[in-house]
Amino acid sequence: MTNKFIHLPPTEGEYQLSHYEGTRDVFSWESVHAQFSWNKTGKVNMAYECIDRHVDDGYGDKTALIYIEGTKREELTFHELKKRTDQLAALLKSRGVKKGDRVFVFLTKHPDCYVAVLASIKIGAIVGPLFEAFMEEAIYDRMYDCEASVLITNSELLERVPVNKLPHLKSIYITDESEDESLLSIPKLTSNDTEIADVIEWVDLNDGMIIHYTSGSTGKPKGVLHAHRVMVQQYQTGKWVLDLRDDDIYWCTAHPGWVTGSSYGIFAPWLNRATIVVHGGRFAAEEWFDVIEQAGVTVWYSAPTAFRLLMDKTELVKNYNLSSLRHILSVGEPLNPEVITWGVETLNLRIHDTWWMTETGGQLIVNLPSQTIKPGSMGRPLPGIQAAIIDHQGNELKRGELGLLAIKKGWPSMMKEIWKNEEKYHSYFIHDWYLSGDLAYMDEEGYVFFQGRDDDMINSSGERIGPFEVESKLIEHPAVLEAAVIGKPDPVRGEIVKAFIVLVGGYTDNPKLKKEIQTFVRYKLSAHSMPREIEVLDELPKTQISGKILRRELKRKEIEKLVVN
Ligand code: ATP
Ligand code: MG
Repeated sequence: MTNKFIHLPPTEGEYQLSHYEGTRDVFSWESVHAQFSWNKTGKVNMAYECIDRHVDDGYGDKTALIYIEGTKREELTFHELKKRTDQLAALLKSRGVKKGDRVFVFLTKHPDCYVAVLASIKIGAIVGPLFEAFMEEAIYDRMYDCEASVLITNSELLERVPVNKLPHLKSIYITDESEDESLLSIPKLTSNDTEIADVIEWVDLNDGMIIHYTSGSTGKPKGVLHAHRVMVQQYQTGKWVLDLRDDDIYWCTAHPGWVTGSSYGIFAPWLNRATIVVHGGRFAAEEWFDVIEQAGVTVWYSAPTAFRLLMDKTELVKNYNLSSLRHILSVGEPLNPEVITWGVETLNLRIHDTWWMTETGGQLIVNLPSQTIKPGSMGRPLPGIQAAIIDHQGNELKRGELGLLAIKKGWPSMMKEIWKNEEKYHSYFIHDWYLSGDLAYMDEEGYVFFQGRDDDMINSSGERIGPFEVESKLIEHPAVLEAAVIGKPDPVRGEIVKAFIVLVGGYTDNPKLKKEIQTFVRYKLSAHSMPREIEVLDELPKTQISGKILRRELKRKEIEKLVVN
């Protein structure tokens, strides 16, 4: 690592204001239980804790959601949110939808989507939010696997749903209107609508609540079922990691179809009574900066892919007033040190990496606001979380040794099951450890350094090379915007390092530039990590839902080419 990435201590403000007050050694998850109504009653519902209790506590008039799409802007208070979710919940209930039924929600990032997810949860159903850009096959795979009986969508998106191939689907609700009488339109709430009482289905902490399919970065997506108990972790990490306070305007850029968009786009902020921002539409740098300014976003959770794309538009930053921002976080992919430097130089803020997975339901390894960031590290395990680097037999490795990143079982938001696949569920565990499938090492201070997925490790002439470090070095070169590094099979070396890069605007692909980039990696990182081949692409292949680089796709194409030749 070059000197450019020195450790970044918290600012005075971050340190003094942080909710986290150094209880690492004595903290227990049980101490959080007192926050929730079920601690007294024994019965739980996530939707109650996210919405209704704030109304009961006198915060009904507080803005729960600010929706911005193009020139449209709409706000909902907690009270309005309660009425809308009650109304839809009552409608679903009256038509026989019951606890444990799988209700799928296929909507764009719009208040309707948030209402539908929470209304389904209110009646004890298991909700399956689908990403808005999914096409027929992705929708079919998930709904068929879950034997979904109810779908909430709109008439435009419905065209992509292969209704006739879904034998378990009994009813379809739409948020708009249609001439098709088999579709049930959800009525719009009017001021004459009165409060609906007793619509909540009180369930057990371990009852199923939401199902998310993994991103599919390494293979077929797995259906991960989470129970209502996830709220313990999501509440506490919302406080400690997102650092949410009463006056925060919080924006998580993920769609609720990805676990980040539910755990941290809905549950964590609303458990903490924060105001959330929902931005409809796709990524566009101008619009994103505009949302921050317009809504006065204070806490912002996004992903490295988005930050890298914004880096490419740095010249736009001066056109916006982004001074409301006080805390930025990242998840989903390794956060390149270069991106952290950009945050400090351009926004005057540190970007806080967080590591977790669909299966873990909540953040596990994080950079708390009051602590020093070591660029290149994902941070440290949360208080209450025990992480280790182990070998394939489950033995703990020493500090600094590369191995499998594992977590001691039993944190509150751990998955309940892999849908209908017990064997797969059990394959995640060895002894008491949950295996993440990621490779990492831990330093003496407990900071965890992600090196790559177990499957993505490159073995070249006997050296193990993690793609992340090489990718991060590549994007430090001024001509490189994004990079994906894979091991290309090679008869002599086993594998060689091959890099796919996207160039910064204004640079063009030529042999001299490639040579210069190779030399850059060779002298700034190491000779054996130098990509022996570099290919320039217009864009990198990415997972649809979470925008992660699909290295396996790049590798598959390389292998195909070798076979053809
Ligand atoms: P699939 O399991 O279907 O292959 P996926 O693992 O990408 O897809 P997710 O659950 O969305 O599905 O992502 C979890 C993975 O994302 C982690 O195992 C890790 O590889 C990566 N990841 C998440 N956060 C970080 C981070 N902060 N730094 C590095 N990698 C991260
Ligand atoms: Mg995974």
